[in-house]
Amino acid sequence: MSLNNEQQAALKSKLDLMKQEIQTELRQHNPDLLRHDSGEGDGAINDVLNHDAMSKYLHQHAEWQSLQRAQARLSENIADICRECGATIPYARLEAEPTAERCIKCQSALEADDQRLRIHSHSSM
Ligand SMILES: [Zn+2]
Repeated sequence: MSLNNEQQAALKSKLDLMKQEIQTELRQHNPDLLRHDSGEGDGAINDVLNHDAMSKYLHQHAEWQSLQRAQARLSENIADICRECGATIPYARLEAEPTAERCIKCQSALEADDQRLRIHSHSSM
């Protein structure tokens, strides 16, 4: 781990802040809060609302998990080590994206793979 104490503390507080933001949003967009008893008639509108809230919730849930992973990586002193190849992730990258788990090389290889899969599944249709 080549991050100094100051950089580690900066990343930690960034992650904390991102967690707080998600918590605040989750409280605002809690699907249970949207499902108020409004009687019959506008059930369809509520379904749409709940669907939006749910997909947003799932997205935030995934984000939450990557934040948890990033915090664990920080406490294990491996926050700046690529999980694929073990290369050092530059602090500038972590500063811009505190939940990054891969070096730029592995990240772009992964995204290229995703792209290939998407093209492949399209052509098979
Ligand atoms: Zn890598």
